[in-house]
Amino acid sequence: VSRVASRFAGIEKSPTYAILDLASELRAQGESILDLNGGEPDFDTPSHITAEATQTLNSGFTHYTPSRGLPALLTAIGDKLLKDNGVAVDPARQIIVTPSAKHALFLSVMTLLGPGDELLIPTPSWVSYPAMVRLAAAEPVFAPLSADNGFRITRELLEERLTPRTRALLINNPNNPTGNVLTTAEAEAVADVARDHDLFVITDEIYEKVRFRGEHVSIAALPGMADRTVTVNGFSKGYAMTGWRLGYVAAPEDVSAQMLKVQQHTVGCAGSFVQRGGISALTGPQEPIDRMRTAYESRRDLLVEGLSSIPGFVCPSPDAALYAFCDISGTGFADPTAFTTWLLREAKVAATPGSAFGPGGERHIRMAFATDEETLGEAVDRIKRAMARQ
Ligand code: PLP
Repeated sequence: VSRVASRFAGIEKSPTYAILDLASELRAQGESILDLNGGEPDFDTPSHITAEATQTLNSGFTHYTPSRGLPALLTAIGDKLLKDNGVAVDPARQIIVTPSAKHALFLSVMTLLGPGDELLIPTPSWVSYPAMVRLAAAEPVFAPLSADNGFRITRELLEERLTPRTRALLINNPNNPTGNVLTTAEAEAVADVARDHDLFVITDEIYEKVRFRGEHVSIAALPGMADRTVTVNGFSKGYAMTGWRLGYVAAPEDVSAQMLKVQQHTVGCAGSFVQRGGISALTGPQEPIDRMRTAYESRRDLLVEGLSSIPGFVCPSPDAALYAFCDISGTGFADPTAFTTWLLREAKVAATPGSAFGPGGERHIRMAFATDEETLGEAVDRIKRAMARQ
């Protein structure tokens, strides 16, 4: 009999940690391991943002804020949503500032789903989604996309998995791990399914600013979607602010009112000085973001070209996000977990098996290019040498 609540049934430890554990073990034995497993920007937070937060701390602005967030930050987010995304919301009634996009997703899932409800998630997709859904006592249902058509979303693939219990669709645009940016046709397919079957859409747009090609389409901006779309975004990836824990969620007013109760009774509010940093990020100079994006783009090219020169690797160049998602079925390994374990032991490179991201990723591994070019070049060399020795 379990000593903890039944809601933990079916929640696995994050599969990305299995690789991290083995990497730590090898490091403890004195091995040098190159980590391409995580997706954390290695850049410092732009200095004008840090300066604003430091000044705020020193001025004694260190107390609770309104649960929704500082009014000036809500306004800045509302302006951003309108300008960048064509999404018009009332900041005081429809936006909540959250400590991380992760928490914004958790609020969304807790608010929209209850026991027996299903959330449809096209996969491969981020590892935390199904766990969050299960914590809400609801069920994640996967709609596996096909590597053979570039993991593109179609109306048919979504409709195949709908049941009378489906309450919402979860779309990650741009996608981790595939790097796909939703095309207009895909966004319209999602919107059509949501409207025709009376579903909500939760859209996680955390990689919006780490985009190299394609236009960003926000589902909430499509006709008839404002009242059934919950938009999640944050500062971690675009502004290199992972440790600040700052995100936000924009939702229809009635949904946002209930969501606010979850925020009030759990975390209360995001950090006061952290929110001031967020205002600086949105209203200050945007050049640092462009510089980081340019750096990621040349890292992407270096990694993708390097990996593509290894026999058995097929690595399309991703449109966005921080990952190369490579088909390694040509290497002769039975599955990506066996391959990443072998890679770690023999090449001393940590990568993530595609199977961690749900059905559809069985032939793939994910490698992050959130680290410097020297490390990426060395990782490619190590993999090449290990493959040649095999
Ligand atoms: N959504 C996706 C798809 C992610 O990959 C990540 C981080 O890896 C997050 C959300 C979490 O963002 P935050 O740091 O704001 O919690």
